[in-house]
Amino acid sequence: MKRINIAIDGHSSCGKGTLARHLAQQLGYVMIDSGAMYRAVTLAALRAGADITNEKEMEALLPGLQIGFQIHPDNGRSELLLNGVNEEKSIRTMEVAAAVSPVSKHSAVRRFLVDMQRQMGRDKGVVMDGRDIGTVVFPDAELKIFMTASPEIRAGRRFRELQQTGIVTTLDEVLENLNSRDQQDSSRADSPLRMAEDARLLDNSSLGIEEQAGIALTWAREAMEGNGIVR
Ligand code: C5P
Repeated sequence: MKRINIAIDGHSSCGKGTLARHLAQQLGYVMIDSGAMYRAVTLAALRAGADITNEKEMEALLPGLQIGFQIHPDNGRSELLLNGVNEEKSIRTMEVAAAVSPVSKHSAVRRFLVDMQRQMGRDKGVVMDGRDIGTVVFPDAELKIFMTASPEIRAGRRFRELQQTGIVTTLDEVLENLNSRDQQDSSRADSPLRMAEDARLLDNSSLGIEEQAGIALTWAREAMEGNGIVR
C-alpha cells in the first residue's frame, strides 16, 4: 500500500510529539521525534565536556555517535537510544534543554542528523516532528503541519510533563527556556524554524488532543486522496 510522509513543525512544547504519536498510531505509521536526536547529540557533547559553541569540536564527536529508537514494550512509546543505551530520560533534563539550541545551530550537526532522518523516511509511512521537517528534511512531504500555541499554555504543559517524570524545575524556568529556544531556533542561519509555504497551521491553544488528532487525520486523508492513495 502506498503511504505518505507527514511533517510536523512548530514552536517548542506545543504538543507536536503527542500529535505525531496519535497520527502514527491511527495510520499504522512510524513516529520519529527529530528533537530527541538533537538532544542526544547535546547529551553526548555535555558528557564529553566539549565546547558546544565550537563547531569543529562538535563535528569531531559525530562519527562516534549511534542514534536510534526503541519501542517501550509497555506503552508503545518510542524512546531514544544513544550508542545502544536508552537515554530517553537523560535527554529531557533542563541542562540538555538549555544547551540544545546552541548545538543544533551548527551545520555539521544538522547535516549529520538530516541525512539520518531522510534515510528513515525513504520508504514513506513516517510522521516526523521537529523544526525543519517540512522545509528541509522532507520538502516533498505530502502533508505538512505547523503547530503553535501561546507560550504560557506551552510552558504549563511542559512543566506538568517534567514534574510527572520527577524533573525538578519551576514554571518560570520552563517558560524562559521555551522563549529562548524559540528565539534561537527561529533566528539561526541554517534551517531556521519557519512555516513552510504549503503547511497547514494548527493553533492548539484551546484544543484537546482528540480534536487536534481529528483535524490532522482529516488533513492526512485529504493528502492521501490528493496523492491517489485510497485507504
Ligand atoms: O522538539 P524538541 O523541543 O525536543 O527539540 C529540542 C531542540 O532541538 C529544539 O529547540 C531545536 O533547537 C532542536 N531541533 C532542531 N531541528 C529539529 C528538531 C529539533 O533544530 N528538526
